Amino acid sequence: MKMEDSVQFVRGVGEKRAKTFEKLGIKTVSDLLYHLPRDYEDRSDIKNICDLIDGEKVCILGRITALPRSFRSKNGLMVTQATVSDGTGIMKITWFNAKYIENQLRGDREFVFFGEATYRGRNAEMVNPVVEKYDGGGKKTGRIVPIYPLCAGISQYMLRSAIENAIENLEDKIPNTVPEKIAKKCALLDTEKAMREIHFPEDFDSFKRAKYSLAFEELLVMQTGIQILKGDRKNYTAEPFSDVKCIGELAKSLPFELTGAQKRVINEICADLKKNVPMNRLVQGDVGSGKTVVAAAAMFSAVRSGYQGAMIAPTEILAKQHYKSFTKMFENMGVKVALLVGGKSKGKTIVLEKIASGEIDIVVGTHAVLTANVNFKNLALAVTDEQHRFGVKQRATLTEKGKNVHTLVMTATPIPRTLSLILYGDLDVSVIDELPPGRKEVQTFAVGENMRARVNKFIASKIAEGRQVYIVCPLVEESELLTAKAAVEYAESLKAGSFKNYNIDVIHGKMKAKEKDAVMERFSKGETDILVSTTVIEVGVDVPNATVMVIENAERFGLSQLHQLRGRIRRGEHEAFCIMFNKSSGEIAKERMKIMQETNDGFKISEKDLLLRGPGEFFGVRQHGLPELKIANLAEDMEILKMAQMASEEIIGEDKTLSRPENKNLKNRVMRKYEEVGGRGILN
Ligand code: ADP
Ligand code: MG
Repeated sequence: MKMEDSVQFVRGVGEKRAKTFEKLGIKTVSDLLYHLPRDYEDRSDIKNICDLIDGEKVCILGRITALPRSFRSKNGLMVTQATVSDGTGIMKITWFNAKYIENQLRGDREFVFFGEATYRGRNAEMVNPVVEKYDGGGKKTGRIVPIYPLCAGISQYMLRSAIENAIENLEDKIPNTVPEKIAKKCALLDTEKAMREIHFPEDFDSFKRAKYSLAFEELLVMQTGIQILKGDRKNYTAEPFSDVKCIGELAKSLPFELTGAQKRVINEICADLKKNVPMNRLVQGDVGSGKTVVAAAAMFSAVRSGYQGAMIAPTEILAKQHYKSFTKMFENMGVKVALLVGGKSKGKTIVLEKIASGEIDIVVGTHAVLTANVNFKNLALAVTDEQHRFGVKQRATLTEKGKNVHTLVMTATPIPRTLSLILYGDLDVSVIDELPPGRKEVQTFAVGENMRARVNKFIASKIAEGRQVYIVCPLVEESELLTAKAAVEYAESLKAGSFKNYNIDVIHGKMKAKEKDAVMERFSKGETDILVSTTVIEVGVDVPNATVMVIENAERFGLSQLHQLRGRIRRGEHEAFCIMFNKSSGEIAKERMKIMQETNDGFKISEKDLLLRGPGEFFGVRQHGLPELKIANLAEDMEILKMAQMASEEIIGEDKTLSRPENKNLKNRVMRKYEEVGGRGILN
């Protein structure tokens, strides 16, 4: 049997069960082996009956002293009882609805029982233990037993034996991905040995070593891919921008002074733009830190150097806002800006022509910019806003619309610094770590239902002062439609109840772009007092007069999302208030509320978010376009990640294309891994 073979050929699986395995994502033998335990149960400890402690989970090794007998209890359960002796004491064992056990316990031989030992008076007991014949060892007992993620139709036992059979019957040794030199240096286990140990550990120390080895291997594959992507870019050339000095002119025309952080980041960008290597830079900056003007600066340099620039945003509202800001900033600079969004609109054909002829300098838009009918004359700068909503593939599509385009990626979802350096190894990172002057922290409160009346009074008082209010409705179980419905109903209930004298509007994701725009327009003009919304307001739009945000069912939102939402009201000169209604008494919800109240610092929040949510959710493939990790845990395995990064640098430094025989397995793994996420042919 080979790693690539279908799982159906593993002894004991077969065609029918293989179908069920597919539900767990297991198709091949390799998938099966990489289906790792989610937990382990230590059944290695065999104790004497006389030494048992009440409540401990242990194995007992003994013989049946009285034949098991079954009877029906008063409430209809089938009860089977037996007595076991191990020479040091006697223990009573009871099973419920398991009459078949009687047959298993036949014969004058030793059995192992694993379960929770309890005392009734001075007599030890076990209820529903795992039982197995003892021949100097066992499959289910006497060792550390893996506990796998399951699905209907697959039991722990089935998985365990399938994995065991697969490992035993592999024709070839499982190949070592990590080149020997590195494996030695980092004291890794042989992959095959590690694979055995992670499924069937001899003890917890060897399990730890196995996990470390496999995590290292996985992270090395990821890092090597990143190194290759990065190195690959170095072979491209780009047009160096001839005019970056012009940015000073733009800065002077702004109604405000750039912050120190903005200046620094703009300088970092300029240094890139002057080179004949394409820029590939990520700008991280908390909500409201002023990323738009940084993008505008780069755009201006592109235009003055004789090229075109494009910027894409994830939503139409946001694209329009950028379009407005750009038009205003470039009003008297002789720069022509166009907006390009989806759907048919009147002058669209003409706009497309003007983009192709070069008459338009800067295009701002949504995904629409990526479509095939958009052609540029000489695109040289591509900016992606809120990049976590776009995959690597989409970023690449935009880049391919020009020749070796400089790219700038902007995100308000800060990633912990250490991690971003490693994960975005293929990007250079700039951080805007300063807010424009005069921004106050948003005062944040987590409250319960008992505060409802006070909160309503507070809202009324703020509206009386002339301010505006956002009320964010909860997400409804993954369904955009139900969430939208809930928001509409909520707005209706406000209109009928506590806020009938106010202007209330509603905005949600199921509305047409035109309707959304109209609502936002009214809100930003101050015609609306209260805007009831779903999370569609999460990204981007600016209404400085809105200073109060109420978040219903705050416990349903993740930390980063709460922070993003709150960012909507940190824009003006007035003091701002965020009130989160929390209906959960769960620990994680409480912790989130606490963190939100304690800090406004996006970096701190994202670090906590990572810990609370776990890296699986935080670093989804979709979000970052990186391969999924099955073994390594980015929050816990930081040290291994660093080591893997150094190792990958060493390997690529010596063998850029991974053509040496000792790197063959690594090359295969990297190619396969990155294909899954659309990193097309990174090594061909
Ligand atoms: P974000 O980083 O969230 O995209 P924006 O670029 O939308 O932030 O900027 C938020 C607001 O701050 C805008 O109204 C913008 O005009 C303003 N702004 C940006 N930079 C400065 C600055 N240096 N001083 C004052 N206001 C600024
Ligand atoms: Mg922005």
